Amino acid sequence: MRIATDLADAVGHTPLIRLRRASELTGCEIYGKAEFMNPGQSVKDRAALYIIRDAMEKGLLEPGGTIVEGTAGNTGIGLALVGASMGFKTVIVIPETQSQEKKDMIRLAGAELVQVPAAPYKNPNNYVRYSGRLAEELAKSEPHGAIWANQFDNVANRRAHVETTGPEIWEQTGGKVDAFICAAGSGGTVAGVAEALQPKGVKVGLADPEGAGLFKLYTGEENPGDSITEGIGQGRITGNLEGYTPDFVCRIADSEALPIVYELLQEEGLVMGGSTGVNVAGAIRMAQQMGPGHTIVTVLCDFGNRYQSKLFNPDFLRQKGLPLPPWLDKAPASIP
Ligand code: PMP
Repeated sequence: MRIATDLADAVGHTPLIRLRRASELTGCEIYGKAEFMNPGQSVKDRAALYIIRDAMEKGLLEPGGTIVEGTAGNTGIGLALVGASMGFKTVIVIPETQSQEKKDMIRLAGAELVQVPAAPYKNPNNYVRYSGRLAEELAKSEPHGAIWANQFDNVANRRAHVETTGPEIWEQTGGKVDAFICAAGSGGTVAGVAEALQPKGVKVGLADPEGAGLFKLYTGEENPGDSITEGIGQGRITGNLEGYTPDFVCRIADSEALPIVYELLQEEGLVMGGSTGVNVAGAIRMAQQMGPGHTIVTVLCDFGNRYQSKLFNPDFLRQKGLPLPPWLDKAPASIP
């Protein structure tokens, strides 16, 4: 084991973990890339690092400068931690609807947190658009300047996955990988891994939560419904998704994803968030379509304690009419 020179150097190089239940169910080998083992406990540390490095290389970010971003949370955590390790300040704009735990973590990581009401992208006060304007203002007033990370359209995000996630998967499997599938927020992960691995013959699929727009954009079929998953469910072809052509697309209901999250926890010791449930459900669907004997990789996006007040809260699940695992049904609201 080598010594990382700093926190940024400790991002990535995550293990692939064999998912026992999913593999047994399908007769395939299904592996999860353990992105929750990154310093900020999510896949977004990779994008944060590449966005910051790119801005430094272009001379846009000077020491003591400020990084501004609109995020569902994980990119904010990544930017705050990687930014702190490199001497930058962060200002994070988040929709109010995101979990309290993620908001607390962003503040704990030293970032300034701005909460805005959830609004669609076409609304100028949508968190992404709001963060772009705020960055412009702060660029004028901050003594060391400010940049907008712009994870959705800044392709430094996708490059993180072209140069690290994709090649790591190829190396870890010794090139014996038939498919990769995950959900999209910015689309950096899916499109970046596709850019790295599709030319090597790997099929790269997209798993979309119910109600998300990409499913319709790629298949022409409706995708009604809604989802409590956070950080995924994109409505447009972002800059990072441009040029990506999915080999397989499926839509996953919360009622399919959540039991997988609980099963991963109870039977495999993996404490995961909702997007991981969508990803593993997608990997199972792709495995069923491809048939037994294939190797399929997906992403274990982030650590589940970030969603204690939602995914692991019986009252919240009952209120949403979502399935409740028996052990959670019996658990007290808080442990004294
Ligand atoms: N899962 C979670 C929990 C996330 O926060 C995100 C990013 N917002 C994703 C998945 C999707 O990653 P990407 O932005 O690379 O599409």
